[in-house]
Amino acid sequence: MPTILIVEDEPAIADTLIYALETENFQVTHVTTAQAGLDHFSRHSPDFAVLDIGLPDFTGFDLCRKIRSISRVPILFLTARDSEIDQVLGLELGADDYVTKPFSPRTVVARIRAVLRRGQSPSQNDSSLLSHQPDTMTVTCCGNPLELTAHEYKLLAILLGQPGRVFTREQLLEQAWDDPGSAMDRTIDAHIKSLRAKIRRHSEDAANTIQTRRGLGYTLVL
Ligand code: CA
Repeated sequence: MPTILIVEDEPAIADTLIYALETENFQVTHVTTAQAGLDHFSRHSPDFAVLDIGLPDFTGFDLCRKIRSISRVPILFLTARDSEIDQVLGLELGADDYVTKPFSPRTVVARIRAVLRRGQSPSQNDSSLLSHQPDTMTVTCCGNPLELTAHEYKLLAILLGQPGRVFTREQLLEQAWDDPGSAMDRTIDAHIKSLRAKIRRHSEDAANTIQTRRGLGYTLVL
């Protein structure tokens, strides 16, 4: 039974969605603030997250970024305005899909099912090489937990979150360092080098999934 986290502050919208999902045998947790969503996520690591954008404490966009820095969980946005759709599409937030309010709950359930189906094959594939457990913030290589520094872990989680996407050094610094201004491009190169070395102890193939794109940045190819 897939577990779904819904972060939505409008009770009427949340209720119709919860009803539709529970009818389809999803196990739903509903919270009304971004912070509560983040807390639930870090403790329970649900299979899917549905995020409203206008939330009382911080935005669904910020919540998405925080989740993405630790996890590749599928994310669907509930958007209310055209300007929000533009942002979902333009910000490279790593969201998997979005629906516009007002929506039919049936449509949302169908989209969630589609995203979950799409996600199944890559995660089965990579489990033999690299597998990410966001709830414990660990990555295993061929079943062996990697002993990573905080920055190495964050870099690897970002790359694993979007296989095939090329990240520039600036983007990696921005996402993995609390104070990106203090670090330099070659900081990323040094961390990638040590990351590859640690992975290589377990599997040469796994180490080779992290690829350098000359003049561009890094990507992880499963
Ligand atoms: Ca709202």
